[in-house]
Amino acid sequence: MKLDDIIEVNKCACGNNEFSPLYSLPNMPLCDAYTSKYEESKGIKNYPIDLFICSNCELIQIRPVVKPEVLYENYIYTSSSSFGLPEHFKILSQYIVKRFELSSDDLLIDLGCNDGTFLKAFDSKNLNVAGVEPSPACSNIKDIQIYNDYFSKNLSSTIQAELGKATIVTAFNMMANILDLSAFIDGVYNLLSDEGVFIFETGYIVEQVNSMTIEMINHEHYYYFTVISLEKILDKHDMELMEVESIDNKGGSIRCFATKKGSNKFKFNKDGLGDFRNKELQLDFNVFDQKLQKRKSEIKNFILKARKDGEKVYGFGASAGTTILLYSLDIVDEIDFLVDDNQVRHGMFAPGSAINILSSDEYYKKDPKYTIIFAWRFTEIIMKKHKNNLSDKHELFPCFDLI
Ligand SMILES: [Zn+2]
Repeated sequence: MKLDDIIEVNKCACGNNEFSPLYSLPNMPLCDAYTSKYEESKGIKNYPIDLFICSNCELIQIRPVVKPEVLYENYIYTSSSSFGLPEHFKILSQYIVKRFELSSDDLLIDLGCNDGTFLKAFDSKNLNVAGVEPSPACSNIKDIQIYNDYFSKNLSSTIQAELGKATIVTAFNMMANILDLSAFIDGVYNLLSDEGVFIFETGYIVEQVNSMTIEMINHEHYYYFTVISLEKILDKHDMELMEVESIDNKGGSIRCFATKKGSNKFKFNKDGLGDFRNKELQLDFNVFDQKLQKRKSEIKNFILKARKDGEKVYGFGASAGTTILLYSLDIVDEIDFLVDDNQVRHGMFAPGSAINILSSDEYYKKDPKYTIIFAWRFTEIIMKKHKNNLSDKHELFPCFDLI
C-alpha cells in the first residue's frame, strides 16, 4: 500500500480528537475498482476499513481514510442509472415544493447533483434551481446552472453572489463521502437564507447494521450517521436538526431537515427525534458480528455442497457491494463467475478476486445449479426476471435475508 494513498484524519468533524475502535472489516480493494485487465485485478491494493466512534459527538467514522482523489479516479456512477432513484426523486421534489410553499422567488441548490436527476424533477418555471457537482462528466445539464466544483465555503459565497441565498439546500447520499464535513456544513450555513431549510438524505448506520446491509460500509463512506451525532455536529455550526424520517433506500436511510438556530418559519416534528435516539442506544456491533459469522458458515456449507456435487458456484450481481460481501463473507476465492445485467461490466474482472463477469445470456447457457445472490436486497426482482430462463434444479442463496 502506498502511504500517500491514505490520510490520517486527526480531528473529528466536531473538533474532538479522541476515538474508540468499533468494528473492522477485512482489508480489501476499493469496491468499485472493476477492471478489464485480469493482472490489474489480481495486483490491486487492499486498504483497511476500520470503524471508530468519536468520544465526544459519537460520530462513527473510518480512520485512516483513502484520499478522495484515489477513491474517485475512475468515478462512473450516475444517479439516473441507480435502481429506483429517479422515481424516489420525483416524489420527493413534489413533496418539498408543497411542504415549503416554494415559488419562483425561491432558490433551491442541490449539492452533489450528479447527472441532475433530482433537479430535473422540478418545473423550472415555478422554482429556481441550480446544482453543484465536481464530476466533469455530469457538469452539462440542459437549462440548469451547474457549478462544476467541490462544494466549499468559498463556492457558497460565489453562488450566493450570483444567485442569492437559498431557501432550500439539498444533499442526497453524499454527506458520508465528504472528508471535511465541518467545512461543508459551514458552506451550507453560508448559503442558506435565515429561514432556509437544509434537507439531506444519508445512510442510517443503525438500520444498515440491523438489516445486515454490510455493503454500505466501504472506503467511500467516511461517515456513518446517527441522529445523536448529527444533532451534536450541526449544533457546533449554529444549526439544529429539526425532523428526521426513516426511508428504505440503501438498506436503511434517513431524511433529515435542519435549519439555522432561531429559525421558526416552518413547523417540524422535533419530538420524533427521541425514537431515533432510543434506537441508537441499542446499536451493537457484537450482534452484527455474530450474525455475520453465522451467515459465513451457512454460505460455506452451500459452497461445500456445490463442490461435492462437482458444480461451479455463480454469483449474481457485480456491483461495488459485491466486493464488500466477497471479502466480508470470506469467499473471495470461492466464486467461479459473477453475472450482471449491466453490460458495462461484462467481460470485466472483480477487484482483487479477478472473478470474470458474464452476461445473463451466458449465464442461461451454462444453466448453473448453484448461485449466490450478491444483489440480495433485490433477490425477488432478479428472480422474477431470470427464473424462466433457468432450469428447476437451480438453487439460490442470497448473501442475507431481507427482514
Ligand atoms: Zn466528534
